[in-house]
Amino acid sequence: KEDSDVKGGFKGHDMLAPFTAGWQTTDLNPLIIEKSEGSYVYDANGKKYLDALAGLWCTALGGNEPRLVAAATDQLNKLPFYHSFWNRTTRPSLDLAKELLETFTASKMAKVFFTNSGSEANDTQVKLVWYYNNALGRPDKKKFIARAKSYHGSTLISASLSGLPALHQKFDLPAPFVLHTDCPHYWRYHLPGETEEEFSTRLANNLENLILKEGPETIAAFIAEPVMGAGGVIPPPATYFEKIQAVVKKYDILFIADEVICAFGRLGTMYGCDKYNIKPDLVSLAKALSSAYMPIGAVMVSPEVSDVIYSQSNKLGTFSHGFTYSGHPVSCAVAIEALKIYKERNIVEKVKSISPQFQDGLKSFSDSPIVGEIRGTGLILGTEFTDNKSPNDPFPPEWGVGAYFGAQCEKHGMLVRVAGDNIMMSPPFIMTPEEIDTLISIYGKALKATEERVKE
Ligand code: PLP
Repeated sequence: KEDSDVKGGFKGHDMLAPFTAGWQTTDLNPLIIEKSEGSYVYDANGKKYLDALAGLWCTALGGNEPRLVAAATDQLNKLPFYHSFWNRTTRPSLDLAKELLETFTASKMAKVFFTNSGSEANDTQVKLVWYYNNALGRPDKKKFIARAKSYHGSTLISASLSGLPALHQKFDLPAPFVLHTDCPHYWRYHLPGETEEEFSTRLANNLENLILKEGPETIAAFIAEPVMGAGGVIPPPATYFEKIQAVVKKYDILFIADEVICAFGRLGTMYGCDKYNIKPDLVSLAKALSSAYMPIGAVMVSPEVSDVIYSQSNKLGTFSHGFTYSGHPVSCAVAIEALKIYKERNIVEKVKSISPQFQDGLKSFSDSPIVGEIRGTGLILGTEFTDNKSPNDPFPPEWGVGAYFGAQCEKHGMLVRVAGDNIMMSPPFIMTPEEIDTLISIYGKALKATEERVKE
């Protein structure tokens, strides 16, 4: 049966469209988005879609927030650009750094370094950690441990840190100094009868064994997203971060929290670290930092690390690293305003108050025969389609079950992220209860249509 107005899935086209980020071509008949308004975006034909992924997990304040537009315009009129090299800088860049250091309370942070993106933030982390260990006279402590299914970016080093095979294949990645440990996905990887706590203990033991096998004196840092995003939305199992942090600390390994998706309220806490009691040495930020109105990323560094880097006795000289647009004044002005709005509108409490409706509403579909697992927390949620409700029975990839579901959402006016048979959602923080009802209703319609198609 052909469903001529639905693209993707079961017919094999759109879902096979290559990863076209960056490459722009009309050959593939892309969906062109022309306008945004609150939690909605509009395509070139005027069709309205609920933006259930907030762009790419980032437009926390939705479309057309006038205060962000005004912040950008005012700054463009005053000073559209000045750099932040050689101890020259701009007021918005300094003010944003100060503000960020005040908002992060899970552990003490002392310095901020601005980038243009999350990928650049994670690349910067690697250089900072190497520089730090070189300054301490231990240049061999340079390996990084990341996790299978993590996503840390697309540059050579951040793609190396990522644990998604597609980012490595055909690129001669990961780089040799990057190791990967277990993905903490309880549903998929736990042993029969194993509790979440026991699963976390096993993963922490595996991490310790990896460190011992490589030699602790060679391991510089461990990097993790508080909740894994692009790998399929995977919240940590109970006691996971407590046990992982104990191992990392024992061997003098730095902890990098990749907060690119989780920061600023997404999980119902200001930072993902607050939710899971993570006390990192370094933090990466991007996305909701400016509600994505301007490109900006950041790295926050603990006093222990920055003291070494800034120390007079450090004979290494300048930390030679920086981007033309590091601390871009317009991006920083927008980010300052976004942080102000998060505070004034009590955005963390707002997310906390609407997330039960979002989570419970969508998880009520868990009984569907094509749903393996629906998982999430706060305003982030993943759905994984499998047969027989088992992680070990995927649908044949050529059926395109996930793509069909995504196309059905699109048909009914909602945009979600599709990756194989994983569906991901991370709506804007400003969603109203009525919009969440609409989101749940469209999800339900798309699920029903997908169930029927699978049955055929
Ligand atoms: N880290 C995480 C957790 C991400 O989700 C992303 C992007 O989705 C990145 C890093 C990379 O950020 P960017 O795309 O801004 O380079």
